[in-house]
Amino acid sequence: MITNAILKQWKQAKRIAVLTGAGISAESGIPTFRGDGGLWRNYRAEDLATPQAFQRDPVLVWEWYEMRREVCQKAEPNPGHFAVVELESLYPDFRLFTQNVDGLHKRAGSQSIVELHGNIFTGRCTKCGCIHPLDEVPLPQLPPPCPECGSMARPHIVWFGESYDERILGEAVAYLRSVDLIFVIGTSGQVTVPVYLAQEAIRAGAYSVEINPAESTLSESVDLSLRGKSGEILPGIVARLRDLN
Ligand code: NAD
Ligand code: ZN
Repeated sequence: MITNAILKQWKQAKRIAVLTGAGISAESGIPTFRGDGGLWRNYRAEDLATPQAFQRDPVLVWEWYEMRREVCQKAEPNPGHFAVVELESLYPDFRLFTQNVDGLHKRAGSQSIVELHGNIFTGRCTKCGCIHPLDEVPLPQLPPPCPECGSMARPHIVWFGESYDERILGEAVAYLRSVDLIFVIGTSGQVTVPVYLAQEAIRAGAYSVEINPAESTLSESVDLSLRGKSGEILPGIVARLRDLN
């Protein structure tokens, strides 16, 4: 139950953050890693989204990404993504941090997005490091060559065991330590850094709300857990916030 008193507190927030995980895209038909449909040819994501897997068999890893790129390209943003866009319009100081690589937040119209784990429609050269779009689905050649130097490209994604971009992380921490309100949506909390980011906001005193049909590792830390699908819960919250005087 979200009382009007709680809503008023949220409405008065000056600076807010939304942290999303794979769950917000589940209603768009994109499988989460840990739910049903998380397996591909009997591989778990944790066995493919690693630098070791890529070193061992780059074509296999690229084939998996081709399958996922096709799913992402065909998917459409859902009411949860659109509610995040509307939430942004209610707060001048807003930032969206997403673990998702599917590009759906951008396609829905979100402006202030930090893609913590990269984007599935972007490649990066393993030699010269240049970052380039991978617009074609499917790609004409696997592994795709770097457009600058012809060496092998890899997905521009932070894989399991890899470090994050220091600048992005530093800015995220600074921002999250100063928010009044944080929504954590559709994340299981199995990946360390996003959990740390949410905890930094909570430790600094932000009011924290989780939206997830299941319990997550953050459930115990948040002020309010809303159990359900983000595409069903979030639009209602945003409408009430918008209409509150
Ligand atoms: P996860 O797969 O570990 O967890 C998904 C969470 O979403 C679960 O807690 C589940 O209960 C919840 N969920 C399921 N349906 C939901 C709904 N309709 N509304 C709200 N919540 C729902 O995902 P994660 O925590 O994001 O971590 C996995 C990693 O996998 C991330 O690093 C992410 O980059 C990557 N990933 C991305 C995508 C994507 O881009 N769409 C998809 C799969 C995995
Ligand atoms: Zn190159």
